[in-house]
Amino acid sequence: MNQNERADWFRKFPLLKKVTSQQEVFWVNPRNGDSEEGIKQSGITAADVRDASERLARFAPYIEKVFPETAFANGMIESPLTAIPFAKEALSNEYGIDIPGKLLLKQDNELPISGSIKARGGIYEVLKHAETLAIQDGRITYDENYEKFAEPAMLDLFAKHKIAVGSTGNLGLSIGIMSAKLGFNVTVHMSADAKAWKKELLRKKGVTVIEYADDYSKAVEEGRKQAEADPLCHFIDDENSLDLFLGYAVAGERLAAQLKEMGTIVDEDHPLFVYLPCGVGGGPGGVAFGLKLQFGNHVHCFFAEPTNSPCMVIGMMTGLHDTVSVADFGLSNHTAADGLAVGRPSAFVGRKMESLLAGCFTITDETMFNLLTMIADTEAIRLEPSALAGMTGPIQTIQHAAPLADSKNATHIVWATGGSMVPETEMEQYYGIGKK
Ligand SMILES: *Cc1c(COP(=O)(O)O)cnc(C)c1O
Repeated sequence: MNQNERADWFRKFPLLKKVTSQQEVFWVNPRNGDSEEGIKQSGITAADVRDASERLARFAPYIEKVFPETAFANGMIESPLTAIPFAKEALSNEYGIDIPGKLLLKQDNELPISGSIKARGGIYEVLKHAETLAIQDGRITYDENYEKFAEPAMLDLFAKHKIAVGSTGNLGLSIGIMSAKLGFNVTVHMSADAKAWKKELLRKKGVTVIEYADDYSKAVEEGRKQAEADPLCHFIDDENSLDLFLGYAVAGERLAAQLKEMGTIVDEDHPLFVYLPCGVGGGPGGVAFGLKLQFGNHVHCFFAEPTNSPCMVIGMMTGLHDTVSVADFGLSNHTAADGLAVGRPSAFVGRKMESLLAGCFTITDETMFNLLTMIADTEAIRLEPSALAGMTGPIQTIQHAAPLADSKNATHIVWATGGSMVPETEMEQYYGIGKK
């Protein structure tokens, strides 16, 4: 993008000026429309998500067998939905803004197996690939008990196959752990943002980790290139994968069941606001899609991004999607929120979300660290920086007068996307930064 083109975009979208100067912004999506219409336009159906949900149910006995920590939920990989009244009070006091509705935390930081939102989509896609191969090879039928996937004959089959993925860290963890457990030959291409402990953990599990000095887009590109040359290699494409998206979307029905159990109503008079940290877009996009299937126009989904990596807000606002990067607007893509350090958004997700997303907002690293320490102090919940990106959501929507955000009937859900795998010493450092 040259200087003239950039100046044109600034004229068309004055908010981009603030984005460029690393200020926190709140963007309302002007194309947000009727949910039913938006879902229809997406080409993805409720049946597609149901299919994913049923596949996860088929695999549940296997998951329970090989990951005993999932036994309490019978092999279902799901996280708690938690009221956080003390954090709500602290947030209100900090910003001087009353939050009349309910505030809940969706604790994907507690998801079993890999401790982040990637345990939804990432694990799902690996399972689906394994199922496809096993069916093709005549090793299993859909109505058999999937504990069979733990048998040596299955491991032998998968040992002949490869899986590859490019990642800033957490997707690599999910894909790596699940693929290695099934016996696949798995390679994770890691961007420079990926933490050393994630690489170590994967190598210990027998995963091949290739490191790049460059950012996420480069790691994905290299991974894709190497995988394409090998017909036995399945590349998990974080930028374009429908399977990843569907794995995330199953969260919609799970959350609906949790809200129902709590007696929390979502309808015309009881709106639901959901704040989702966004990197390339697959995780938050899939979850938002699943929520739209459940609650239609009564749920309002917002993506949250670091001020240095606001790729989705730029891509969706301009409609340029993946043909624009944060560097085109002079931004570094350097953020402590490693899960969100993405300079170019998924066009696949951006287009699916075009008329389903309520908006996006950004948050500085400093604020994320402050909130990390705040929620540790008030609720004893430990989150990684990325997982805090949505925490100012209720403040943002109330401040910017999103319809009904200030209603006492509103429910606000902050999606806490990761944290339980972070080593204690690392977590102490994060906590210390926020304390200062
Ligand atoms: C990956 C990740 C996200 C965002 O998901 P995308 O699919 O990249 O948009 C958010 N939080 C954490 C902790 C993550 O690892």
